[in-house]
Amino acid sequence: MDPAVARDRLVDRLRERDDLGEATVAAMRAVPRHAFLPESRRADAYQDRPLPIGAGQTISAPHVVALVTDLLELRDGQSVLEIGTGCGYHAAVTAEVVGPANVFSVEYHADLAERARETLAATGYGAVSVRAGDGKQGWADHAPYDRAYLTCAAPSFPDRVVDQVRPGGLLVGPLGTDRQVLVRARKREDGSLKRDHHGQVRFVPLR
Ligand code: SAH
Repeated sequence: MDPAVARDRLVDRLRERDDLGEATVAAMRAVPRHAFLPESRRADAYQDRPLPIGAGQTISAPHVVALVTDLLELRDGQSVLEIGTGCGYHAAVTAEVVGPANVFSVEYHADLAERARETLAATGYGAVSVRAGDGKQGWADHAPYDRAYLTCAAPSFPDRVVDQVRPGGLLVGPLGTDRQVLVRARKREDGSLKRDHHGQVRFVPLR
């Protein structure tokens, strides 16, 4: 099947499952998930499930990417910090909404970071910035961010990442160890976080 047709069908199913915002739906329709996967996994790109991307890591299921994108309440022009670039797919979805030059992503594995940069450039998202390093430190050079999200599970939002989000901004991430809860937090003016919970999820751990 033509990838664009398979992708449209997947997004139709995602909309039936969850009440997704228009910007999220448009982004999910636009980004060619298959192009971010290893050759051997491309046939499964438009099934709603996680897939291996190398280095023992996985790309999240599309409904999880859509949910995180929605919870972030993204708007064009907002700056966004992503922790865990992986193959770069989720960064591209974010870039569709806020603009590629506003997305800053940190990946622990240098080889994944390099491959993500190449794929992002090849798919038209070359203005997304990717840095190899420890996401627990965030990326201070481009702070403050309007939004930040983790694509790997942590016991709590890392302090440096919280510091780098502006007051009034949102953070989203899977918090917990073996199993996690998807948590969204709004940063108050005094720097404290107001959290709400969005169901159980399973992500690879933050290192
Ligand atoms: N958003 C990704 C999914 C990546 S899976 C995508 O669309 O493909 C989670 C990623 O987080 C993995 O690539 C893993 O290497 C990375 N990771 C784990 N610990 C990290 C850390 N401390 N800093 C940055 N990235 C980390």
